Amino acid sequence: MRQKRQETHAPGLLRRLLERLEGREQMLLRGHPSWPLLLLSYPANHLHVAEELREAWLHTLPSLKAPVAADYREMLAHLPAVVVVVLRPRNVCDCLGHHHPRGAESRLAKRLAHDMGSEVGEIDLAWEAIRAWRPQPLSSLAAGEGFAVLHFHVALLAVLLHELEHLAHPDRQESAVRRTSDSFYSSVLDELVSQDGVTRFGMNIRPVAP
Ligand SMILES: [Zn+2]
Ligand SMILES: [Zn+2]
Repeated sequence: MRQKRQETHAPGLLRRLLERLEGREQMLLRGHPSWPLLLLSYPANHLHVAEELREAWLHTLPSLKAPVAADYREMLAHLPAVVVVVLRPRNVCDCLGHHHPRGAESRLAKRLAHDMGSEVGEIDLAWEAIRAWRPQPLSSLAAGEGFAVLHFHVALLAVLLHELEHLAHPDRQESAVRRTSDSFYSSVLDELVSQDGVTRFGMNIRPVAP
């Protein structure tokens, strides 16, 4: 997902080589039975980002009332049983995330697919780029520390679901996929900023280390 609307493309080879030199850890997220298992792969000293995504996937997504969230939950049933989510702070190409076309997955995903004897999908997310992303003016919404944390939570989910929809529906046009994720971003942000959202999610929103 590019910050502005452009064609998708594969991330750089150099980046992948660098990642082999850096220790990475994995976290498996098991949500609703019809959803894929998410295998998060993150730099060893950035457990906090994996925890933020776990909170969003296991607790926030199932609870959202927005109709677009219900559409996404239905979409998740069309994905491979396992999806690898490669987390890194930023991409050299400045994208927020990518879905990896069949055959272009990492060695981790290929090894998993081989061992399981089934298809394994893969996407990547650039969490610092997502944290800084402001696709819409936020003047009508609250500012401050609490909002920054909430915004990051919603933006992470929006980009994750955007890339997962590409995997589930490879033929779907970028403009359509982007329309859904833009709608998710704004309606879920509204939902969570509302008093009801603060009440429901206030306890889940923890400060996130930089
Ligand atoms: Zn896209
Ligand atoms: Zn890119």
